Amino acid sequence: MSTPHLHSLLITLNWNRLILNILWIVSIVVLASQLLIYEVITLIVPTFTPMSYLSEELFIPHTVFLFIMMVLELCHRLNPRRSEEALIYASLALSFMYFYFLNDHFAVAPIVMMFPLLISIIYFKKKYLFICLALSFIGLFITHCYTENRSSSDIVELLITSCFMIIATFTGLAVIRRGSELVAQLDMVQQSEQELRIQTMLMERVVKIDPLTGLHNHKSFHEQFEKLLADQKLHPFPLQIAILDIDNFKMVNDTFGHWAGDIALKHAAACIADHISRKSFAARYGGEEFVILLREDDIQAAWLIIEKLRKAIACIPIPEMNRRHVTLSIGMHAVEVGETKEYAFQQADQALYVSKSEGKNRTTMQ
Ligand code: GH3
Ligand code: MG
Ligand code: MG
Repeated sequence: MSTPHLHSLLITLNWNRLILNILWIVSIVVLASQLLIYEVITLIVPTFTPMSYLSEELFIPHTVFLFIMMVLELCHRLNPRRSEEALIYASLALSFMYFYFLNDHFAVAPIVMMFPLLISIIYFKKKYLFICLALSFIGLFITHCYTENRSSSDIVELLITSCFMIIATFTGLAVIRRGSELVAQLDMVQQSEQELRIQTMLMERVVKIDPLTGLHNHKSFHEQFEKLLADQKLHPFPLQIAILDIDNFKMVNDTFGHWAGDIALKHAAACIADHISRKSFAARYGGEEFVILLREDDIQAAWLIIEKLRKAIACIPIPEMNRRHVTLSIGMHAVEVGETKEYAFQQADQALYVSKSEGKNRTTMQ
């Protein structure tokens, strides 16, 4: 099951629990008020027959209420997916029972018959509204037909209750429609927000990533280096910089063409990305020059990684260059706390110059 479906199922289950709790509270409140009425009537009406009230008005109906509530509770716990439907039908059954048992004393019909309709609105389903309206009408009509000694006031009450139910159903339909519109609007806003986020990510990539090699670009390197130097000042940590320059790259271009030169750049970049750890940061500084910021424990550990990388690149046969290889000259420097970006870079650059002047395809530390 997909996550949004699971999410909406969990929300529905929470609402089922809430409605179930409300039904429990209503049942308890009705029982408590009937017990209170019993106490009051016993005091003020001497001819009152408490036994028949206790059995017919209290014991029988509340046993049935309790039974329905227990069935609902079991359904919610054992088969939560059917709990929603069970709640709708049970609320209809409870409304009829309240209507049937209490209507002799109070004009409760318009109020209690609203209950299932209100629950249907909470579930936001038109289907439930129509089912509740139809079953309520049938129930009211049957009850009315079987009422002994019907009076004209009974018909008036039936009509009023019917009108209330129709009004409540139409109001419910309007609420559901308005809600659906709002959900659709929210969906649209979320969708455009997501598109915007994707666009921002793409823009950031365009701004920070070198399109040929997929490594970070010159600007991104300077930002990262500044950030690391600032962090290092606050909480000192070992940091190393390596500048890598492809040897005789002009000759590669001149001999095999710029297209082959581009492919050699891509091979070198991929090899760099493969060899450095997740903590390190690699960028194409420009042309055939790369720069790496390493977070190894010391310059020796960094040197081992860089040497492994240099040897690996020197072993890649490039088909577009008649399976010839490219080599790298590298300059490295361990960045001490408090050094400026310019100074640290210069140190690595000077080391690179030494590598070049001593015959290329080597790494120098400074
Ligand atoms: P050295 O060993 O001293 O570094 O010599 P080199 O030839 O590598 O250095 P030089 O600075 O003389 O030449 C660099 C060449 O890199 C010149 C330029 O055309 C080429 N170049 C720069 N950017 C690109 C690129 O994106 N693609 C290709 N194919 N060539 C590039
Ligand atoms: Mg160069
Ligand atoms: Mg070069």
